[in-house]
Amino acid sequence: MYNYKQKKETITRPCDIAGCTNGGEHRAPKNRHSSNEYYWFCLPHVQDYNKKWNYFQGMSAEEIDNFRDDAVTGHRPTWNHQIPPQMRDKMIRDGLEKLLGDGAVKTKPRLPPLVKKALAKMELEHPVDKKQIKKQYKTLVKLYHPDVNNNDKIAEERFKEITESYKYLLENYCAD
Ligand SMILES: [Zn+2]
Repeated sequence: MYNYKQKKETITRPCDIAGCTNGGEHRAPKNRHSSNEYYWFCLPHVQDYNKKWNYFQGMSAEEIDNFRDDAVTGHRPTWNHQIPPQMRDKMIRDGLEKLLGDGAVKTKPRLPPLVKKALAKMELEHPVDKKQIKKQYKTLVKLYHPDVNNNDKIAEERFKEITESYKYLLENYCAD
């Protein structure tokens, strides 16, 4: 069966390499121990990533460590050779990011403070979609509208804040 939603998601997801405008149709695990964390890359970048990943896999922990610390002068921590797998993965990942370019792999942008504030005013938590925001607004209007609060000053102030937050979120907030 044709799955429209999945298809759309595949097309609109951008490649995780900063500056790359291709679609990120190919996923690559961030490490071997968290099966649900992935990067999404375009074909050339996923091939590049896999090649480099394999390259690191073939290195000893010490070699990866040396590589990683190459740029950091005068500081080379002494590792226990029994490096736990999670740490080894982190080293591989750090090494990959260095190879792909500094800050090459996009990190998820943090929620802008004003969006955070507006969500809090509306008693919502990220992520929410527009439908949920509208629904919540209706609920809050029923509670705080001056007409239902005998023009109570506090309720009126609250109502104003909620309405401003609502408008702000509709224009400036996107859950993903
Ligand atoms: Zn790419």
